[in-house]
Amino acid sequence: MRYEGGILGVQPSFSGMPPAEGLEPKDRESLFAMAVEAVNRACEVLKAPEYVKAILGQPKNELIVNFPVQLDNGTYKLFKGYRIQHNNILGPYKGGIRYHPDMSLDDCKALATWMTMKCALMRLPFGGAKGGVKVNARELSASELMRLTRRFTAALADTIGPDYDIPAPDVGTSSQIMDWMMDTYLNTHEGVTKQGLRSVVTGKSLACGGSEGREKATGQGIAYVLQELLPEFFIPIAGMRLSVLGFGNVGGHAAAILQGLGARLVGVMDHTGALRTRAADGAIDAEDLARHVAGTRSIQGYAEGKTWLETVSAEDFYKTPVDVFIPAALERMVTRPVAEWLNCRVLAEGGNGPCTPEANALLRERNVGVLPAILCNAGGVTVSYMEWVQNKSGVRWELARVNAELKKTIVNAARRVRLAAHQYGVDMGTAAYVVAIDHLVKAYVQRGIFP
Ligand code: NAD
Repeated sequence: MRYEGGILGVQPSFSGMPPAEGLEPKDRESLFAMAVEAVNRACEVLKAPEYVKAILGQPKNELIVNFPVQLDNGTYKLFKGYRIQHNNILGPYKGGIRYHPDMSLDDCKALATWMTMKCALMRLPFGGAKGGVKVNARELSASELMRLTRRFTAALADTIGPDYDIPAPDVGTSSQIMDWMMDTYLNTHEGVTKQGLRSVVTGKSLACGGSEGREKATGQGIAYVLQELLPEFFIPIAGMRLSVLGFGNVGGHAAAILQGLGARLVGVMDHTGALRTRAADGAIDAEDLARHVAGTRSIQGYAEGKTWLETVSAEDFYKTPVDVFIPAALERMVTRPVAEWLNCRVLAEGGNGPCTPEANALLRERNVGVLPAILCNAGGVTVSYMEWVQNKSGVRWELARVNAELKKTIVNAARRVRLAAHQYGVDMGTAAYVVAIDHLVKAYVQRGIFP
């Protein structure tokens, strides 16, 4: 068998093996099925070897842990946690830790698959992983959250490591959670070079070995992608109308950075409601809204006393005419009906897997340019890589250097995606997977399968 794909013209030969059977998820509705479908589609475009397609269609390791935590009132509660290690052909497993009441093994598998794709697309020496705990973190006190985090880290302690699997923040977790994870890992591992173990997690606070620029990195990455690709759609960032779904780490920073480039934020929605400007030429001050959210943890109450803003239904929020819409909340929020309502020219996927396949198909029909998540939101893992490098080598980089490296990495990836889209005649979403999988295939073909 020959690998007939290869976007860089390299076509190494290899010994093939028959496709593995029964490895694809059965539940077509699942998030993991959605991730695997995207991988399979790109494998077909690339004519990737069946054995690589089969390997990428399943995680390498799946771990479920159940662990008790003492609550402030003295009682104990059992929590369920997950860690999925999808693939490590390119380097140590890498991926976030999510605290959310709906967290499931299936979601972790999908998110870990996307991490493998994201790292491959960015050409980072990392594989893909994801984990989390099924918990509503908002219902826990700070001390309960700390005990939960320490106990979960202890449960994962033999599964993670600075050269093996490196967690990071995601929905419901923060630099504080990463600091506790790092501290727990250090205190449960022997060794004279313990400080080097700080690289076991990324996204830490600056005081605990975090990197300049990590906090805003995902939003910054979205801005770099838009600067590179919006000219394709003849949309200048200065003056463009923007709406954002989810105003947390990703949505909040993306909006503020784009506002700094001249964009006008005209609509925002989070888990508590939606608001938008009344006048067509109005704008919401993203920095000011971020300060409000930092205090209250939602956009609720922000419109009070501001006559130029109105609170609206979800449907009206989606129908607001904008140039660019950034979904940066949870997965599969853009369903087919939402895709019908959307009135945007470009949808830049800030969160992971925000669009269902049906919504994606409709957006394609409606000629909405969809910029894929594995490209748009890769800024976070890219600066996580820089944090890991800084921890390992004992140096600190200034913000200007971090942002310059981030820009170079993400713009190069965006160019590879644009090139692959033209070369294969596919949409940017498929092209991003094509570029990522091409890189993975080459690694598999070069290394071969042990033994
Ligand atoms: P976050 O917890 O900081 O913010 C999540 C936002 O989504 C909040 O504003 C919340 O109100 C909103 N939200 C939640 N449920 C909602 C609902 N039902 N309707 C409307 N809004 C809702 O999380 P984040 O870190 O910004 O992550 C957002 C997305 O980006 C996730 O898909 C995450 O996996 C992805 N992501 C995050 C990073 C990162 O560095 N933080 C990196 C890559 C990808």
